[in-house]
Amino acid sequence: MEHIYSKFYSQFEIITELKTEVLGVVLHDDAENYAAKDYIEWLQNRIARGELEKGWACVYVDKNTCYWFHPSQNIEWHCGHTFANAHYIGIERCQSKIGGILSDEDFMENEEASFKIAAMLLQKYKLPVNRETVKLHKMFYDTECPARAWEIHLKNAPTNQQNMQKLQDYFIEKIRAYDLFTEEELIVLG
Ligand SMILES: [Zn+2]
Repeated sequence: MEHIYSKFYSQFEIITELKTEVLGVVLHDDAENYAAKDYIEWLQNRIARGELEKGWACVYVDKNTCYWFHPSQNIEWHCGHTFANAHYIGIERCQSKIGGILSDEDFMENEEASFKIAAMLLQKYKLPVNRETVKLHKMFYDTECPARAWEIHLKNAPTNQQNMQKLQDYFIEKIRAYDLFTEEELIVLG
């Protein structure tokens, strides 16, 4: 796994204030064909056009690459929801477009990378792995996200509390499968 960091990790100026408190992670499906590296230019363009308000997350993940766009301790614009933006870290799972370039099997490799990053981030912030700390975007906002995971793991079941918890529990099980990381391993986190 290659970790790439944006200029926001090497310059004083950043986009947002610190989160009041980090409470957990939100796993997003990007609904695009872009790989994590493609988001480097995509986000540069978003900045150049003054369109950051359309949204961005801390980190963009596929099976090969983690692109750290903005520090995890800072507020993000990833949920369209003020509380979630100020308390949860957004993990954008790349190439998740339904009917896109990745088969379900291949997308699940990207998912696995996102579970590992989630496990590392939760450990870094000394948080447990449970329904309070592992959230879905659609719990905060009227969105299909995470649409690809919903299709693969829930076979497009209706959106309701019970099914959202089912997908949460699947994510939780996958994240809990990781053993504790060493401090050296956690250094890569942005
Ligand atoms: Zn989302």
